[in-house]
Amino acid sequence: MAIRRLTEPVTLKIAAGEVIDRPASVVKELVENAIDAKSERIEVDLREGGTSLIVVRDDGEGMEGEDLLLAFERYTTSKIQTEEDLYSVGTLGFRGEALASIAAVSRARITSCPVGGDAAHTLDASGGRVGELTSAARPVGTTIEVRDLFFNVPARARFLGAPRTEFMHANRVIQRLALLSPSIGWMVTHDGREVFVAPAVASLHDRLAQIYGIDVAGGMIPVEATHGEVRVHGFVSRPDVKRGNRRDQSFIVNGRFVSDRGLSFVLASAYRGILRPGTYPIAVIHVHLPPEQVDVNVHPRKEEIRFADARRVQDTVAAALQRGVSDRRVVAPLTGARGVGRAGAGTAEPRPRYSERTEPLSFDLPREMRLAARTREMEKVRVSGDRRVIGQLQSTYLLVETPEGLEIVDQHIAHERVLYEGLRDEWGADGIVRQIFLIPARVEVPFEAASILVGNRDALERVGIILDAFGGGTFLIREYPRALADEQTKRGFQEVMETIVDALASEQNLNERLFDRLLSELSCGAAIKAGEPIPLAEAQALIERLMTLENPYFCPHGRPIVFTIGRDELDRRFQRR
Ligand code: ADP
Ligand code: MG
Repeated sequence: MAIRRLTEPVTLKIAAGEVIDRPASVVKELVENAIDAKSERIEVDLREGGTSLIVVRDDGEGMEGEDLLLAFERYTTSKIQTEEDLYSVGTLGFRGEALASIAAVSRARITSCPVGGDAAHTLDASGGRVGELTSAARPVGTTIEVRDLFFNVPARARFLGAPRTEFMHANRVIQRLALLSPSIGWMVTHDGREVFVAPAVASLHDRLAQIYGIDVAGGMIPVEATHGEVRVHGFVSRPDVKRGNRRDQSFIVNGRFVSDRGLSFVLASAYRGILRPGTYPIAVIHVHLPPEQVDVNVHPRKEEIRFADARRVQDTVAAALQRGVSDRRVVAPLTGARGVGRAGAGTAEPRPRYSERTEPLSFDLPREMRLAARTREMEKVRVSGDRRVIGQLQSTYLLVETPEGLEIVDQHIAHERVLYEGLRDEWGADGIVRQIFLIPARVEVPFEAASILVGNRDALERVGIILDAFGGGTFLIREYPRALADEQTKRGFQEVMETIVDALASEQNLNERLFDRLLSELSCGAAIKAGEPIPLAEAQALIERLMTLENPYFCPHGRPIVFTIGRDELDRRFQRR
């Protein structure tokens, strides 16, 4: 077969395919150019998800007339000159192929007016054919219009999704880029409707609120760490704010979004045991390091990068997360502060007259005696540290006095967390320590459950359970995790073994995820239940243990353990201030 040199229109289309695969990638390139041009405000208009029209308008530096002619050519860029520059680029673009690629597969038009220049110019390019430069009217900045994407590449046009789908992708790109720089103001429309309006703000946190909403932003924890020349900062979500996928996890290295498996792994590890498998934190993590320590030119869309010292970068991110995620101040906020200090307007009950409200004075002697006994008990409880359990509410919540105010602690979840962390530590060290029962505990399970237990003997042994099948669905538990054995004996083994069977049945493989789930089910089974009265001394010990944990504020499933009402809050409610 004869080898032929491809004509330029063909090579252009091939090259375009690497960079431009849907409206969202056009939006990305155009917006990145606007950011590189130091714009303070960027407007994006989309029609039909960007398939029929994409307009990006900016107030950046703009271009001279003759630069417009160059901009549409391949490998024309104002951002780097020499090979060395490639290793220290500070701009998002540098390959000089985006505009050429876009113009090759659409009908594009640039209108631009440079800073300090006297006039604006317009240039069209359609299917790669560049037209004539004409003068135009426009304030400083650049407008790029891209119509009929892939009009000359039908094979690609066929792969486009419905306008709604394409819009969703483009919108995601825009929101991500909006995270890069809170000081850029945004205005995005789709089919004439405003879909994202975000004026310039002072902080990343404010930008998070514009993108994810105030509630989510309020649930984000700042993280920060510096290690030599590597600096990491950003926000990650509290465990009660989570997502079903990784889409809202952004790593930004020297101002550029990257997808990096190492960093994703570090993030996932920080939440292991805090979030249920299959749920993911929201994260925006900036990494700054000297540009020569990153290679950004390993991917046509510049999404993947290479670090000279990946380990150091990962360690720094891990350190930042470690500090942030287990920070003691991470507590569930007091939500729904409605009707503070006055009755809700909607519940306009007629105010009872005085006489109706008075009730015969009752004096419940047995109750008073119990209270007195309780007070005496309290005096005997040894308190170490700055938290004192002052009572148990409805046998479910512990009330804890702290120097800052009041903490209300879910006793079940707190205990579960304490037990779980203990097991995790043993697991990570020499394995779960078992206790041998003198008298084995007996459980009865249905037929299929029995075969699951028998089939998973090894897995059970690894989490500290040794059992014998006694036939007919009866099992004898001979050994059990020592940390749980006493508590579980009090509560019986039937229920917990049923949840263990469920866990074994629903997870196909013997992996980390399964074992983590088994450990949390076991901890849950042995933990004090809601509605169980417990002596104050025990409650005090539990709280003190809880506070020694790395993460005392959330259970492995992400439910909050502690609810704090600060002294400030109390004062406000009682109108002391
Ligand atoms: P790159 O961004 O890799 O340099 P592009 O093809 O995206 O390549 O853009 C080519 C050149 O056109 C840029 O280097 C820049 O000088 C100029 N340019 C593109 N868009 C804009 C804009 N919105 N404002 C000012 N200059 C722009
Ligand atoms: Mg570019």
